[in-house]
Amino acid sequence: MLNVPSQSFPAPSSQQRAASGGRSKVPLKQGRSLMDWIRLTKSGKDLTGLKGRLIEVTEEELKKHNTKDDCWICIRGLVYNVSPYMEYHPGGEDELMRAAGSDGTDLFDQVHRWVNYESMLRECLVGRMAVKPAVPKDCREEKKVLNGMLPKSQVTGTLAKESPISPSYDWFQTDSLVTIVIYTKQKDINLDSVIVDHQCDTFRAETIIKDYSYLVHIGLSHEIQEDFSVRVVENVGKIEIVLKKKESTSWECLGRPLENHNSLILKKDKGLYYRKCQLISKENVTHDTKFFCLMLPRSTHLQVPIGQHVYLKLTITGTEIVKPYTPVSDSLLSEFKDPVLPNNKYIYFLTKIYPAGLFTPQLDRLQIGDFVSVSNPEGNFKISQFQELEDLFLLAAGTGFTPMVKVLNYALNNIPSLRKAKLMFFNKTEDDIIWRSQLEKLAYKDKRFDVEFVLSAPTSEWNGKTGYISSGLLSEFLKRSSDKSKVLICICGPMPFTEQGIRLLHDLNFSKDEIHSFTG
Ligand code: FAD
Ligand code: NAD
Repeated sequence: MLNVPSQSFPAPSSQQRAASGGRSKVPLKQGRSLMDWIRLTKSGKDLTGLKGRLIEVTEEELKKHNTKDDCWICIRGLVYNVSPYMEYHPGGEDELMRAAGSDGTDLFDQVHRWVNYESMLRECLVGRMAVKPAVPKDCREEKKVLNGMLPKSQVTGTLAKESPISPSYDWFQTDSLVTIVIYTKQKDINLDSVIVDHQCDTFRAETIIKDYSYLVHIGLSHEIQEDFSVRVVENVGKIEIVLKKKESTSWECLGRPLENHNSLILKKDKGLYYRKCQLISKENVTHDTKFFCLMLPRSTHLQVPIGQHVYLKLTITGTEIVKPYTPVSDSLLSEFKDPVLPNNKYIYFLTKIYPAGLFTPQLDRLQIGDFVSVSNPEGNFKISQFQELEDLFLLAAGTGFTPMVKVLNYALNNIPSLRKAKLMFFNKTEDDIIWRSQLEKLAYKDKRFDVEFVLSAPTSEWNGKTGYISSGLLSEFLKRSSDKSKVLICICGPMPFTEQGIRLLHDLNFSKDEIHSFTG
């Protein structure tokens, strides 16, 4: 529910379909696009019927507002009157009505948690749910906790007790440094696993441990310098974050706990955290696709794992709009070693600019030095899928090429068992092929790699393969290096392409474990 609509009638291959996991959409009436909604919210019209007043809503009150003309929904404790939004919702009125008069947080999260409803529905805000105020912990109480290892039972979060993992943290100091140590007690932890941000006195470290997210979130008691270092002791799963004190005084306590501090929740339930990144460069790649380089703040440690995407956020006519993008390596030809250098401060994107799109024209208008917000990474690709891999097949269409970049670089440079890596790259015309010369150079340089281009709208000069994804194309392309070779097939592109591709792969007897689709 509460999808961000970007167009009145999303085309079958529209990005929004991919972004929303292919769920069904209803055609919206003329004049009911996202842009129309933004205009309405800026018109000054009273959308809640409360003349801007915010109220405290009890559960009984919420339940009363359960009709199309009077529909209130609670998301994460905030109550919205969504009746005015009904006609603008691409998932349709019925989908919104499923949460009428109730807490719709779970339903919302199931569909697209990343949609920025706070900004989208700001003018529909009725108020907060009436809840008991949390008792703030003071610094002395925190000191008690932070001076020693935190007992398991004190890790908060609804799943903490049932989860198979029990992370904890501690801290210690010297004259000039404060070290925060996170004990994950897991072996598969690396520098990608932890994302650290500090801003003013707020320190935030989110650690991804299997399917869980463990958060250390503290209002520091003293000032620290902007830069810090992160080390991982992989064999014991220990993460050390070394902060530099601004003044060499002894800290009595680390600070005060902030929201969700020391909590363990399922990764799928975590919210998105953003930091502002600066646009460093922008280069043309094809007639409509550009290569963007963003720089992370010095006070952030973030490495986007292979196969994962982030959300970019921009404010467009006063409303925050969020779209997913998959970071790529700076080139296909550079060496890619794991772990990536810890001082890696840049994130690269290959982004197609759609002239009639909502987000990308605005992204394209950014000047060097401007800022765009970048979220923590998400995605379900696992490095373990490369284990003992012999044949890697990549099926990409258009910008669906982006997740393949890091996958390919990593496999060619880090998987000794790999015998063959092949990319079948589907585009409309030759002019649309992203990084064609790099792909051809890579194929020349590395004999294990091969690329085939397939065009759906070629000119008469094209004498290569043509058409959409088909069983004929795939059966010829997907030749194993040996009968029982370990295979991974990655597929990404417009939703109809991906869906059709997966069907064809099953028909060709590839198993679920052998296929990874990037669908967002
Ligand atoms: P939209 O507003 O969504 O418009 C999309 C298309 O619909 C355009 O062709 C537009 O012309 C057309 N359209 C708009 N309004 C109408 C209308 N009223 N009638 C008919 N047609 C209309 N993209 C990349 O370029 N690079 C990436 O790395 C990347 N990674 C992604 C990762 C994931 C997990 C997912 C799900 C998507 C990814 N995308 C990526 C796609 C990206 O998220 C956006 O969908 C894309 O950039 C388009 O956004 P937009 O707001 O500019 O266009
Ligand atoms: P495009 O319109 O240029 O099409 C590229 C090719 O896709 C076409 O040449 C054709 O071979 C194939 N294709 C298009 N429509 C098809 C259909 N209906 N049936 C079968 N094949 C079809 O593509 P684009 O504008 O570059 O869009 C790329 C898509 O990839 C977007 O939808 C984007 O959201 C998605 N994407 C997803 C991820 C991800 O999930 N991780 C990452 C990047 C891009």
